[in-house]
Amino acid sequence: MIIDSHIHLDENFDGTCIGAFNEIERQFNESHIEKGVVLHLESQPWSMEEFSNCLLKFPRFIGFVNTDPLKKDSIKTFQHGIKNLGFSGLKLHPRLQVFSLTEPLVESLCLAAGELDVPVLIDAFPDGSHLMQGFSPINYSKLASVCPNTKFIWAHMGGHYVLDFMMLAKRLKNVYMDISYSFLYYQCDSVIDNIIYCMRSMNFDKIFYGSDYPDRSIKTSLDMSMKILKKKGLTDIQLKKILFENANSFFKWG
Ligand SMILES: [Zn+2]
Repeated sequence: MIIDSHIHLDENFDGTCIGAFNEIERQFNESHIEKGVVLHLESQPWSMEEFSNCLLKFPRFIGFVNTDPLKKDSIKTFQHGIKNLGFSGLKLHPRLQVFSLTEPLVESLCLAAGELDVPVLIDAFPDGSHLMQGFSPINYSKLASVCPNTKFIWAHMGGHYVLDFMMLAKRLKNVYMDISYSFLYYQCDSVIDNIIYCMRSMNFDKIFYGSDYPDRSIKTSLDMSMKILKKKGLTDIQLKKILFENANSFFKWG
């Protein structure tokens, strides 16, 4: 059994929200994936209400709502998403939304997530733009430290900063990570070996599989990832933790 913990809607599929959801459903069936976490993005053409209307038609999906922490009503918007629209967590994208994790408003929003007992997934991929904006692992760990009752998922495992992120995650009970995007992005063995090393170092706990669809198709991501994980010698028990068990016990499935 498999859970894909990091998916977006493909806005180029047929232009509709329901069409994009139907397409993920079709690809999940094709790849025999059980359940998934679909991430709403403010930059996409659908409101959180429209996203929620579609999301609730698919029992195998849960959704995370994306709000801009610097906007005036971000906490209210987020709370509305959780309490009234059926979202299960908060998605933050400091690179695309152009804000720093050190902003006090980010802390307030993350504390609000902790009060509602829902996790916060933060993009942690250091591409050139993110590096120029001041990407730093320390900002992630400081935020997790000042919000001890909020659970965080550091998406993409910090890319090539994966060793730093792992060392920090080991000191923070409330931090989890997903391997999406990074695991297939770096076309060199060194980063992949580091990601596997970090999985081992964390005893294959607190780390989830994700595809970051539509970057690649659901099936292509899964096939490529499985091939590497098996080549690197993961046992069936270790594979099961990363691909299913960790996410199954972390997320609250409907
Ligand atoms: Zn993503």
